[in-house]
Amino acid sequence: MPSILQCIDCGQQFPIDTVIYACSSCQGLLDVKHDFGQSRTRLGSELFDGRLGSLTAPFNSGVWRFKELIYPGIEDDQIVSRMEGNTNLYQAPRVAKYAGVDTLYLKHEGENPTGSFKDRGMTTGVTQARILGMKRVACASTGNTSASMASYAAHAGMQGIIFLQDQEIALGKLAQGIAFGATCLQISADFDRNLELVRQAGDRLGIYLLNSINPFRLEGQKSIMFEALQQLRWRAPDWIIVPGGNLGNSSAFGKGLLEMHDLGLIDRLPRMAIIQAEGANPLYRHFAGGFKHFQPVKAETIASAIKIGNPVNLQKAIRTIEWTNGVVEEVSDQEIMDAKAIVDGVGIGCEPASACSVAGARKLAARGVIKPGDTVVGILTGHALKDPEATVGYHADSLSDISPAFQNAMLKADDDLDEIVNLLGLHQAKV
Ligand SMILES: *Cc1c(COP(=O)(O)O)cnc(C)c1O
Ligand SMILES: [Zn+2]
Repeated sequence: MPSILQCIDCGQQFPIDTVIYACSSCQGLLDVKHDFGQSRTRLGSELFDGRLGSLTAPFNSGVWRFKELIYPGIEDDQIVSRMEGNTNLYQAPRVAKYAGVDTLYLKHEGENPTGSFKDRGMTTGVTQARILGMKRVACASTGNTSASMASYAAHAGMQGIIFLQDQEIALGKLAQGIAFGATCLQISADFDRNLELVRQAGDRLGIYLLNSINPFRLEGQKSIMFEALQQLRWRAPDWIIVPGGNLGNSSAFGKGLLEMHDLGLIDRLPRMAIIQAEGANPLYRHFAGGFKHFQPVKAETIASAIKIGNPVNLQKAIRTIEWTNGVVEEVSDQEIMDAKAIVDGVGIGCEPASACSVAGARKLAARGVIKPGDTVVGILTGHALKDPEATVGYHADSLSDISPAFQNAMLKADDDLDEIVNLLGLHQAKV
């Protein structure tokens, strides 16, 4: 077997086909570990660069292009893929100027099939569900995980079951779960409680759990780093900046970066910066307190994708911070929405949580943590269409506690040409 499951705390190993989400001895988180073995020397940039632009499965996917690093040894026809990944890396000088950094790239994971990076984790998670012969898959979600799982479950002919909180779900995300035919359960509990509930319900009913506690999710999400580094011609930037909610993505990034470094694909590790919302900042507090005593929080933020108070991947995220000499920063909802308006305003666009990457870059640059001349890659985690209420609310100045610094207010006119011409004459573009 080229791959096994291994507890990150006590090291206990389990066969790769064990249906298990935590170590049975110590409850620690599990890693999927691959033995790159004799194929090691083959796993260079030439192999992966040679597959760019491939029109055939599975290498036409931006996840499975790196199959040897994602899940070696499985049959290609087991793979459930929607040709996810292959997302753009934008050079964004106007956003860089706002953030106060010299070189900023934005990797737009909102360009995935269902509009968030979750698709990269779902292709591997649902593939493992198929390998295990599962008929039903489930998750708790603030919205994007459920949208993605619903799509991949439908694609694979499985039943998707999603546990949603009964308030503050972004409309675009909710609509996707329903449209893709998942069984949608609205529960009067927040995300953290719903995750406990879905784990217990799944255990009782034998339903496969696809939250990011499932280590196969993280194997797919590693490919964000593989692909970004490939787009940078395998030259490591100084910083990778990512929003942190349940901390699956930041954990996956740490593992992926370490593997790339270990294989010689990159010659140094970038530093990771994980950005949380002030109202959902348990990792930030833990980091600021020197990782001594962890306290979950009751989460509240407009960035609903990261409204999480008790992140399941905490220990893996701490490991990532240690491996990469990383930092954790927090930003306010005001800073998030203003940064989003900047990203939106250059025509790229993202959902609120994603804007943490830019708001965080700005704060870290202002604090002198990010140095002049540093090259920064910010991850935009989700698409602008996911949360239209937040965008419209910002520009209409109707969000409580937020005053839009970059408002694009709607103009109104009667059916009157003179009035319209006059109005447009007065309203010169601000750019
Ligand atoms: C899931 C999600 C996040 C948070 O990622 P974690 O892996 O839970 O830390 C951030 N932004 C968006 C758009 C998401 O969908
Ligand atoms: Zn253990």
